[in-house]
Amino acid sequence: MIQSVKGTKDILPDSIAQWQFLENQFRIVSAKYGYREIRTPVFEKTEVFSRGIGEETDIVNKEMYTFADRNGDLLTLRPEMTAPLVRAVIQNNLLEANPTLKLWYAGPLLRYERPQKGRMRQFHQYGAECIGTVNPEADVELLLLADCLIKSVGIQEYRLLLNTLGNDNVRLIYKNELINYLSKFKEELSEESKNRLDKNPLRVLDSKHPADAQIIAGAPQILDFLDEESASHFNFVRGSLDALNIKYEITPRLVRGLDYYCHTVFEFQSSALGAQDSFGGGGRYNKLFEELGGKACPAVGFAFGIERILIILEAINKLPQISDTVHVSIINLDVKNFVYAQNIAEQLRAKGLNVACDLQRRSMKAQMREANRLNVKYAIIIGPDEVEKQTMILKNMSDASQREIGISEINSLEI
Ligand code: AMP
Repeated sequence: MIQSVKGTKDILPDSIAQWQFLENQFRIVSAKYGYREIRTPVFEKTEVFSRGIGEETDIVNKEMYTFADRNGDLLTLRPEMTAPLVRAVIQNNLLEANPTLKLWYAGPLLRYERPQKGRMRQFHQYGAECIGTVNPEADVELLLLADCLIKSVGIQEYRLLLNTLGNDNVRLIYKNELINYLSKFKEELSEESKNRLDKNPLRVLDSKHPADAQIIAGAPQILDFLDEESASHFNFVRGSLDALNIKYEITPRLVRGLDYYCHTVFEFQSSALGAQDSFGGGGRYNKLFEELGGKACPAVGFAFGIERILIILEAINKLPQISDTVHVSIINLDVKNFVYAQNIAEQLRAKGLNVACDLQRRSMKAQMREANRLNVKYAIIIGPDEVEKQTMILKNMSDASQREIGISEINSLEI
């Protein structure tokens, strides 16, 4: 038997209601904050990611599904959405009409990762991006949107980890400090961190290797190197969140995986998740537009992992239970009257009702059993007599009462 690809999962009809519930919340809450939906292709030219995310990140280095198509063009299945979204904004001149552009998306992403609970090769994200302003007000409003979304899907408890990466100047000075410090321990660092030290020293702070933990604990902190601009941005965000009652924890070692971040960075964690305790994250990125060939344009955004949100909801027993609704079952006693039955069903469907008909040529008893299983409000029974008289029997399943009605009465029927 052919199996699905490792790290991918079918979303079966029994759980689709959970996805539709989340997607509805995404739509409703995003609109409340003035965010509009955008959908971009699932694959892009590879350079969108290699230039956008940075050559020295795990995503670009190890996790991209990249292939040459029949023309020899190098393409990549999208491993994240921010770079494609920025590409689309530039290409379609979306900023011309709107100095501040607020966009959201939800869809599948692909990364070649080692699958485990909460980590897949195809997964889904909801994300939102506020494009066009350097001001920290955007960071704050975006975090309000995130908070509202998390709560609207039923998660009351979560941790918001917050840090700043400062502006370019601050990061340059801090990077040097960090390299000086980490170089003293180079021999003791894990292989991965040794590599990162040369290519992307901030990422060493992200290391989960036990060997690195103590060294990282003594490393200099970026918060001690902020200049006036960077401190003022961060203080505005903090002060506003305090006043708006959004709880956060300052986490000096939070750097996030991607190269493009500056100033505010953040991550959402839940203790309901296991080892992969993060269910979302984001931050400010002011250079990505230029990297992708557009005019300089600042932006801030975040993404949630939708599968992780579902894991949290399952752990806290808040998975929405919505079942498919069938309003009416047509019980047809003779296959000769199939068209008669379908005609009635079609009229009911045209009225907006969901209607089930037997396709298995089952007995009346079996069809009634099925109608009970579907929990329909009404069954419509059609036998030879009814066809003869151009009528049907309408049975109310809640009290078992039934009456005969004519075909012409369907339109005025209140169901
Ligand atoms: P990132 O784009 O890496 O910052 O990830 C943002 C969020 O997407 C994470 O917090 C996870 O919730 C989710 N996520 C990232 N990678 C995966 C994956 N391989 N499988 C499932 N969810 C993921």
